[in-house]
Amino acid sequence: MKKTPIIPNIAPIWQSQSWQNLLANAYDNSDDLLAALQLHKSDVDTSLQAAADFPLRVPASYVAKMRVGDPNDPLLRQVLPLGAELDAVTGYSADPLEESARNPLPGIVHKYHGRVLLITSGACTINCRYCFRRHFPYQDNNPSLSEWQQSLAYIAARPDVEEVILSGGDPLAASDKYLARLVAQIAAISHVKRLRIHSRLPVVIPQRITPDTLAWMDTDRFDIAFVVHANHANELDQHSADAFRALQQHGVTLLNQGVLLAGINDDTDTLVQLSKALFSQGVLPYYMHALDKVAGAAHFDVPRARAQQLASELLAALPGYLVPKLVFTEPGAPHKMPL
Ligand SMILES: *Cc1c(COP(=O)(O)O)cnc(C)c1O
Ligand code: SF4
Repeated sequence: MKKTPIIPNIAPIWQSQSWQNLLANAYDNSDDLLAALQLHKSDVDTSLQAAADFPLRVPASYVAKMRVGDPNDPLLRQVLPLGAELDAVTGYSADPLEESARNPLPGIVHKYHGRVLLITSGACTINCRYCFRRHFPYQDNNPSLSEWQQSLAYIAARPDVEEVILSGGDPLAASDKYLARLVAQIAAISHVKRLRIHSRLPVVIPQRITPDTLAWMDTDRFDIAFVVHANHANELDQHSADAFRALQQHGVTLLNQGVLLAGINDDTDTLVQLSKALFSQGVLPYYMHALDKVAGAAHFDVPRARAQQLASELLAALPGYLVPKLVFTEPGAPHKMPL
C-alpha cells in the first residue's frame, strides 16, 4: 500500500503527559477511583476479594471519560471489581478458549488458517473485568527478543502464514524500541504480507501513539490493520480521534472489536451510537464478541436470544458497513463463529 508522507509535528497538547507516566500512576484501588468519581462505597458493590483475584487497574486518561457521580457508568463498570465476580457459575471456567492447549510454542497461538497470533506483551494497561485472560499466568515481563527466535522460526517455516497478529495482553504495553525490532524481524519473513495489531491502548491511553510508534508502522513492507477495542461510544473522545487520525495518516486501516456486555452496551441504541462514533473517528466496526465464559464474568453475560435480537435490530438501524459481526469463539473451530 502506498503510504502518505509522515505529517510532521503530530504531537498535540495531550502528549504533554507521557503514556508511561499515565501508566505508572494508574488507579489501582477502588477507594481512590470512587473518590475521583465522587462516589461512595455504598453506591456500588465493590469487592476487595475480587480485586485480590484480578487487580483493579485503570489509567486516569480512561477515568476522565467516566461520568462523575454515576455508579452505573458504562466505563466504570468495565473496570470496577464487583462482589458478583466471586459467584461460581456453572459453565464458566478459567480457560474457556482452551488456549493453553493451542500454544505450539510459548508466545504463539496458531488456531486459524493463514494467521498466527503472537503474545507480544503479557501486560495490559487496563484490567477489564470481563477479560478471558484474567486467570492467565501472564507475567508483566515481556519475552526478550532472543526468546522470539523460536516463534519467528515457526512462522518462517510456514509459507501459508500471511498475517502476523501482535496481541497480548496488549502489544503496545511494550516499548516502541522493542516493537520496532520485533517488527523488523517479522518483516524479514517474506511470505508475511499483513501485520495486524490488537490493542486497546489508543482508547485507554491515546498518548501511547507517539511519533516513535508511527515511525515503525510507517513501512511499505506490510499492509497494517490496527484493531482497537471500544465497547461504548463514551470511550471515544478528541484524544482517541487524534490517535486514530495519526495512524490513518500512516496508511493504517482501523477496525474495532468490542464485547457484548450486560449493563454496558446490550441495547440497540448504545450499539448504534458506538458504530456511529467509531466511523466518525475513521474506525470501522469489525467484531462484537459474545462474552467468553470466563469465571468471574458471568454477570456480564447477554443471553444468546437477546444477542440475536440485537443483531437484527442493528441490521435494521444502520448501513451494512456500520454493523459489526456478532461472533463467539468456539474452542477447536477454524474461525470465529457467527451468532
Ligand atoms: C481471533 C483470533 C484470530 C483472528 O481472527 P480473525 O477472524 O482473522 O479476526 C487469530 N488467531 C486467534 C488465536 C484468534 O483468537
Ligand atoms: S485490554 Fe484486552 S487483553 Fe487487556 S484486560 Fe482488557 S480485554 Fe483483556
